Amino acid sequence: MKQSIADLKYLFDFFKRRNKQLYIVGGAVRDMILGKTPKDYDLTTNALPDEMKHWFDDVVDTGARFGTIGIVLPGGVYEITTFRRDLCYTDGRHPSSVIYTDDVRLDVMRRDFTMNAILMDGDGIIYDYVGGLADLDRRIIRAIGSPDDRFAEDKLRKWRCVRLAAEQAMVVEDETKASIQNDPDITGVSMERIRQEFCRLLVSEKVTWGGYLLLKCNLIQFLFLERGVHFKNRDWRHTFLESFEAMAFVPRHLETRLAMLLHSLEPEEQKLFLNVLKFSKRTQKQVLALCAHYQVNCNDIVDFKQTIAELGHDGFATLLSIQQGEAAWDGGPLKCEIVKKNKRIYANIIERGDPIFVRDLKIDGKDFIAAGYRGPAVKQGISAALSLVYRYPEYNNRSDLLSFIDSYYESINASEDDQRETT
Ligand code: ATP
Ligand code: MG
Repeated sequence: MKQSIADLKYLFDFFKRRNKQLYIVGGAVRDMILGKTPKDYDLTTNALPDEMKHWFDDVVDTGARFGTIGIVLPGGVYEITTFRRDLCYTDGRHPSSVIYTDDVRLDVMRRDFTMNAILMDGDGIIYDYVGGLADLDRRIIRAIGSPDDRFAEDKLRKWRCVRLAAEQAMVVEDETKASIQNDPDITGVSMERIRQEFCRLLVSEKVTWGGYLLLKCNLIQFLFLERGVHFKNRDWRHTFLESFEAMAFVPRHLETRLAMLLHSLEPEEQKLFLNVLKFSKRTQKQVLALCAHYQVNCNDIVDFKQTIAELGHDGFATLLSIQQGEAAWDGGPLKCEIVKKNKRIYANIIERGDPIFVRDLKIDGKDFIAAGYRGPAVKQGISAALSLVYRYPEYNNRSDLLSFIDSYYESINASEDDQRETT
């Protein structure tokens, strides 16, 4: 649901009539100052959650434990959090309790970075109690207060920091960065939340910068080495850095960029990487398939078409975009030539309408059974027929294929007989 300015105006009027303060805070103010359109508006008030529940008919308890109420209005849901102070963090992620306050200055102090703690009231007036404007101006991400303390309270902030740097094209202030580097520990943070930050970084505009920071701050190293994962390629950091560089030349698409990052690892390590970060089965399958076919061979038409069949047209287009991106990054004439050649071959295949998938064959399972095939032989026969039409598309007609599967059937039976005789 898209939020609307009309709803915001309504909320500001509503709170004003009840003598309550209300500010937009966080990412929306940051984005507006940077001239970007905010994704969503987070609001903060001195009204208490129970008051808000009483005033509005349609509310959702999005984070009631921490004073956040979702107010449902025609244009969307608006998260409004009561000014609060966070009391002792014990699990490395959440405050064990919060106390509400009437003082917005105390509320901003519990937020993560200076640029995320700027307030805007209903008249568009900005309030900055933490030096956020100056940092935004210089494009610096800085923890509010002592970075060591702030990261110890909530370890997810370390990953948020690096992700925000990549999304906002900002540098991380030295002390803030050193604090993450010295202690990249994320114990207590769920892997789902880490994955979310990682995915946002991967599809961000400044992915190369984000990747560099992830490694520089020891965050990736910690994630894997801590779990006993040691990549066989001893130079994996360097390889990752190069992949992060090449990613800037491909679309901002998650699976594409994940495949680029992982393709140089051993298949078992690729699986482990995706598993540790709890990627969905679907994403894992797509990324592993892209990695398995990373080097499509344009000199072998059967292999080429098999790759299209296994990845599907979308997956194959992704593969070509990766090759093109890597060639653009690398700049080498040989790579560029190979990409051109692959694109030309693919375009010709599409233009001629060459058979690629089982469904394109002019015969089907029934024909195999009629020719005597049973069990695993059917699969073997289909892939033999496909290989034939990959090489000779003109054989994709019933009469040629039926005689092919007859003779192929005889040949597999004959080789089975041979095997029986020799044992
Ligand atoms: P985006 O919506 O682009 O992710 P955002 O800054 O709005 O950026 P949210 O997760 O929506 O991020 O959080 C809103 C605000 O809440 C932040 O700007 C920040 O002030 C505060 N905040 C969010 N997460 C944390 C955290 N882990 N620690 C401290 N403050 C936080
Ligand atoms: Mg937000």
